[in-house]
Amino acid sequence: MKNVGQKKTRHKTAVILGAGISGLLAAEVLSKRFDQVIVVERNKLSLNRPTFRSGIPQAKQFHVLLNSGLNLLEKLFPGINLELDRLGVPLVDYTKDCILFSPLGKVPRFPSNLLIRPTERPVLDFLILQRVLKNSKVKILDSLHCRKLNFKSNKIESVEGKKGDELIVIKGDFFLDTMGRNSFLEKRFKSEGIIESKNIQTIDPYLGYSTQKFLKPKGYNPDWSAIEIASRPPENPRASGLWDIGNGQWMVALIGVSKCYPPRRQEDFLNYAKKLESSLIYEELKKATPIGPLNHFRGAKNRWIHYEKVKRLPSNLLSIGDSVCTFNPTYGQGMSLVIKEINLLNSRVSKLSKIEDKELSNLSKYMRKKIPKLIAPAWFLASCEDFNWPMTAGKRSNLSLKISHYFMDKLAPIAPYSKELVETFLSVANLVKSPMALAHPIIIKQFITFKLLGAPKNNETF
Ligand SMILES: Cc1cc2nc3c(=O)[nH]c(=O)nc-3n(C[C@H](O)[C@H](O)[C@H](O)COP(=O)(O)OP(=O)(O)OC[C@H]3O[C@@H](n4cnc5c(N)ncnc54)[C@H](O)[C@@H]3O)c2cc1C
Repeated sequence: MKNVGQKKTRHKTAVILGAGISGLLAAEVLSKRFDQVIVVERNKLSLNRPTFRSGIPQAKQFHVLLNSGLNLLEKLFPGINLELDRLGVPLVDYTKDCILFSPLGKVPRFPSNLLIRPTERPVLDFLILQRVLKNSKVKILDSLHCRKLNFKSNKIESVEGKKGDELIVIKGDFFLDTMGRNSFLEKRFKSEGIIESKNIQTIDPYLGYSTQKFLKPKGYNPDWSAIEIASRPPENPRASGLWDIGNGQWMVALIGVSKCYPPRRQEDFLNYAKKLESSLIYEELKKATPIGPLNHFRGAKNRWIHYEKVKRLPSNLLSIGDSVCTFNPTYGQGMSLVIKEINLLNSRVSKLSKIEDKELSNLSKYMRKKIPKLIAPAWFLASCEDFNWPMTAGKRSNLSLKISHYFMDKLAPIAPYSKELVETFLSVANLVKSPMALAHPIIIKQFITFKLLGAPKNNETF
C-alpha cells in the first residue's frame, strides 16, 4: 500500500477526483491557496497530443464552447484563445457566421458579439491539461481508479484507489468530486440514504447523438461557418449542426429526441439528414466525403442532484460539473456551466483568509448554495425545449418554470420580426444573459404589437 498526500501539520492538500474539464480547472484554481493539489484520474492521460479516452465518452461527439465559457476560460488561462487559433479552431460569430433554422424558419443573420468556438473536445482538453501540467503545485495521478472514501467523523480523511495491483491511499483536507455523470459518490450516498430520490430531478427527452466528420469539398469557401437546423415540435424530432472545425473539415451532429435516434451506421447518415426540417445540411453533405468512424451516443438526459438540499454531506467535500448536473446537450451548455462554477470557486477561494476546517466547510456550503443559481438558467432552457415533446419523461417541477415555459412558447412567433428577441434568446442560450432578459420592455412591446396587429403588413423579417 502506498500513501500519498500525507503532510506536515500546516501543509494543506486538496484532492480532486477526476481529470475532466471540471477537475483540471479546479486544480488550477485551488493551487492558488492550497500547498498541494492532487488530481486522481482513472484513465491514462496522453501528455503529448490530443487523444480520445474512455472516461469521457461524449468527447467523440461534436462540442461547442459557448461565449460565456470562452470568455471566462481566457480569463483563467490568458492566451488560450491564441493557442486555439494556432491549432486552426475557428472563432465564430454565432449570429453572423451561422445559418440558423429555428422551428419557424431561417433566422436572419446579423453581426453580434456572440463569439464561440466549435472544437474537437480532445483538443480543448489537451490545451487545458498542458496549462495545468505547468503548475508545480498540481500533481496528477493517472491510471488510478478511485473507489472508496475513508471518513473520520463528518469529514473525508482519504480516498483509495488501485493502480494496477497497488492500493493507493490519498490523504487530504478538501475533496472535490469532478467524476462526471457516473460519479461513484452518488451511488454510495444513495445506498447510505444520504441522497434521497427527492433530491434528484430528471427530465429525459430520450435523446440520441450521431457525429461524423467530413472532408469539405476542395476550394469550397462558403460565407458561413456553420448550419444549425432545429427540430420542429411536435412533428419533426430531428435536429442537426454542421460546423467547420478548421483544417478543411466539417463535424456534423445528427440529433434525435423522443427515441427518433440518429443512425449508428455511416451509410444511413445522409438518409436521416434528408428528413431534417431544411434540406440544406443534406445538400451540403452530398458534396463532402466522410472521414473516420461515425460515433453514436445515447442517454444524455437532464439530471440535477440538488446537493444544496442534501443533509449529512461530509463537510470537506464539494461536487462540481456533470457530477451535479447534466443537460440535454443540444444547447452545448455543459462546459460553459462548468467554467462558470470554477469562476465562482476561484473568486471565493481567493478570498479565503485561512484554509482551516471551518473555512473549508464554509467554502463547501457557500458553493452548494450558489451553484444552483448558475445551473438554473441552463436547466430552464434545456427543459423548455424538452417539454415540447410529449414523450419526454419528468415533471415541470415548479410554478415559475411552468409560467416561464408558457411565456417562451408565446414569444416564439415574433422571433422572425424581432432582432432583439433573437439576440437576447441566443445570449441566454450562451449563458451570457439571464432568461429574465427576455422580458425586456422592447421585446414585450413587440410582443403586444404582434398580438394586436399580427405580423408586419409586408411580412418582412428584420
Ligand atoms: C452528446 C454530448 C454532447 C455534448 N456537447 C457539448 C457541447 O457542445 N458543449 C458543451 O459545453 N458541453 C457539451 N456536453 C457536455 C460536456 O461534455 C460535459 O458537461 C463536460 O464534459 C463535463 O465535464 P466534467 O469534468 O464535469 O465531467 P467529465 O467530462 O465526465 O469528466 C469526468 C472525469 O472523471 C474521471 N473519473 C470518473 N470516475 C472516476 C473514478 N472513480 N476515479 C478516477 N477518475 C474518475 C473520468 O475518467 C473523467 O476524466 C455534451 C455532452 C454530451 C453527452
